[in-house]
Amino acid sequence: MNSTNNSNETSELGETKCPKCYGTEVVFDYKDENGYEIYKPCACRERNAWGRRFKNALIPEEFVHANLENYERENENQQKMFEQTVKYLESFPDDRDELQEVGAKNFGFTATIGEQRIRALNPGDRSEIKHKHNNFGIGKTHLQIALAKQLIKQGFNVLVVSDVSFMDEMMNAKRMSDDGESYNRMLNSVLSADVLVWDDIGKAKPTEAKEGLYYMIVNERYKRKRPIIFNTNEDKNTLADRIGYAANSRLLERGQGEYYVMETEGIDWRLKK
Ligand SMILES: [Zn+2]
Repeated sequence: MNSTNNSNETSELGETKCPKCYGTEVVFDYKDENGYEIYKPCACRERNAWGRRFKNALIPEEFVHANLENYERENENQQKMFEQTVKYLESFPDDRDELQEVGAKNFGFTATIGEQRIRALNPGDRSEIKHKHNNFGIGKTHLQIALAKQLIKQGFNVLVVSDVSFMDEMMNAKRMSDDGESYNRMLNSVLSADVLVWDDIGKAKPTEAKEGLYYMIVNERYKRKRPIIFNTNEDKNTLADRIGYAANSRLLERGQGEYYVMETEGIDWRLKK
């Protein structure tokens, strides 16, 4: 997944070479009765593991510094989005064993009035509705990346994909003549990650092949009770037009509950600045 931006933020990764073990992650412990040198894991190992998970998560460059503290809450809606995110985090399993056992809900931000619906309006109504129910630039991705980083810190494997580039790459991989090797490798990462963050789901141009893929991923993760954290500029109905009805209902079903899938709208702060 090359076109998904990888982070190379060194301060977050803490990847300075450890002076104790010179980067081998093991240190001498003791000599046993036969004179063999016994080594133990170095203290840096846990720190590096977090760094690797962070690196493997494919956090988009512009969100490397996103955290819960620097999310701007300028209105009630953003305050609510923030609170839901914190609640979700608090309700999340403590570790991978617990996740394996009980699973976790999907968590999503959708629009109140989806792009697909807005595009279908006549131009006069379009701008008014768009303005009234704006869904852009309210920090959905920021919050979810911040959430992802917290989960990475807690030891979970997190993968972040961005809809358009991810779907493009999957479709390209499918056409490769390598007996499906690339395709399956990518698919396997997406299915087996503890947590999948799916940015802008439903943005890619719909095709039948993509519809099949959406359903496969959403359904397989559903069966494994592995959560998808997603955001979309579509609403709960128009998203079905983009990713297919079956995938949409599975996605939302696993996100059923008091606060797991939230409709959002607000002032576009990118325009305000
Ligand atoms: Zn070390």
